[in-house]
Amino acid sequence: MTLGRKLFASYLLVVAASTVALVVAADRSLRSRLLREATVEVTRETAFLVQAVDGHRGAALDTLVHRLGRTTERRLTVIDTTGLVIADSDFPADQLPSLENHATRPEFRAALHGGTGTNLRHSVSTGRWELKVAMPIAGGAVRVSTPLPQVDAVVSDAQNAVLLGGLLAIAVGVVLALGFARSVSRPLVRLRDASQAIAHGDRPVIDTRGRDEIADLGRALRSLEETLSRRVGELERERSETAALIASMVEGVIALDPRGTVTTFNPAARRLLNLAPDAAPPAALELFRARAARETVERALRGEESPGLEVEFDGRTALLSGHPLPGGGAVLVIHDITGLKRLEAVRRDFVANVSHELKTPLTVIRGYAETLMAEDAPGDVRRGFLEKVLANARRMQQLVDDLLDLSRIESHAWSPQPERIALAPLVHEVWATLKPRADAAGVTFAAEIAGDASLYADPQGARQVLLNVLDNSVRYTPGGGRVRVRALRAADGVEIEITDTGIGIPGEHLPRIFERFYRVDAARSRELGGTGLGLAIVKHLVEAHGGRVGAESALGAGTTIRIVFPEPAAV
Ligand code: ADP
Repeated sequence: MTLGRKLFASYLLVVAASTVALVVAADRSLRSRLLREATVEVTRETAFLVQAVDGHRGAALDTLVHRLGRTTERRLTVIDTTGLVIADSDFPADQLPSLENHATRPEFRAALHGGTGTNLRHSVSTGRWELKVAMPIAGGAVRVSTPLPQVDAVVSDAQNAVLLGGLLAIAVGVVLALGFARSVSRPLVRLRDASQAIAHGDRPVIDTRGRDEIADLGRALRSLEETLSRRVGELERERSETAALIASMVEGVIALDPRGTVTTFNPAARRLLNLAPDAAPPAALELFRARAARETVERALRGEESPGLEVEFDGRTALLSGHPLPGGGAVLVIHDITGLKRLEAVRRDFVANVSHELKTPLTVIRGYAETLMAEDAPGDVRRGFLEKVLANARRMQQLVDDLLDLSRIESHAWSPQPERIALAPLVHEVWATLKPRADAAGVTFAAEIAGDASLYADPQGARQVLLNVLDNSVRYTPGGGRVRVRALRAADGVEIEITDTGIGIPGEHLPRIFERFYRVDAARSRELGGTGLGLAIVKHLVEAHGGRVGAESALGAGTTIRIVFPEPAAV
């Protein structure tokens, strides 16, 4: 039932109940008052009639009683002390013996005791209420009976009037109640609609005019809605910030609900676990194959914090940590440390390589120095020993120089200062330093460079690049071989192509020759005075210019190294 109907119904109920109460009250109070008045009047009449009939007997009494009855329009009965009716205005004398004995009637008994007896009875014969008043006379009592039709009539008139008034009140009440119920329920209905709109996240229409309680409620709802929408806005902003944060994180983040269902899976986690961007994430315990990783997930779901655990999957290494959430569920964080591990391995290898490279010449130097100290060797032997010491010291020097160069470039302590350099003179200048060795080895040289060919590069850097590459060509090309340098125009700069007809590089080694200390044949390289750092330095120098290097080779047929220095417009 709607509020309006309830209000309407209760209003009607109140009016109806009041009407019924009025009717009943009118009946009760009016009737008793009328009866009181009638009793007084009949008692007075009875007292008068007692005096009139007292002393009469027989036929005279009967005649008198009938006359008085007619005159007063009351029933007048004379009863002797035994209760026998001796005269009655409503009955002729011959019928009197058939009348009931009145000895037990209360009004008669009261009169016999010398008082005035009154009694109100419902008459079976007339079907009406009758008032009976009896008073003593000598040898009996006189009783006056009178029906009370006027009492009933007055009461029923009053009841009808009240009823009519009630009906009128109901009719007016219906109209008023309808209006009142509507005026109360309509703003409430509007507030209900507004509350529902708030619940659905819509903007509600709230009427805050007026000064009654409903208007107060409207104002309270409006301020509630404003606070709520502000809080929701803040929460949404925070949520999108958090979502963006999680999405942009390098670490994989996976959120689980208390049942272990994945609720958040950021792109990094998908990438790390090799999951397509649109694929549904698996259940928490199927995320990892490694037992230890699964235990981490279980512990986190049980509410235990798990510090970083190193796990391996698909050739990657990651640190997996589990963090329980306060309301159940957990967050798993996967930190990919593959790169870090690789760096660590590179650093370890590097230290091992450097130590190894330094150890060999050091051992040689120490050996010769000890021998020289211990033995008094002839002059030419001593000289031979000292030459070995010197050669190894130079090798160490070369290694340290190369390492320093490399570290300077890598740490950006050195950066190229590019300028326009004529290419042909540079190549010839570098070759001039190598020419004695090339001539000794029987390696010829040819440069195919246009006279106006130029580079935009750091002169010192470019010289070093050419020196390292040409040095390798001379070193790894047997007698009778050729070295050729060509300059070509590439899409993004100038390409210098250095080709030799040397021993070549096996295909499996080719991709790695630009790594530090990577050598196809370490012993041979060392024997030829190489440090294993030459091409690494070349690569770093060229890349510092924004250029690139590449190598092609055929085993036994020769090697081609291509270096591209970018031109300013193409940089
Ligand atoms: P290294 O000092 O040993 O020459 P590099 O870094 O200059 O070190 O070269 C790395 C390795 O690449 C060399 O050890 C060698 O095996 C191979 N290499 C480089 N240039 C040539 C070339 N022109 N012909 C054959 N092998 C070469």
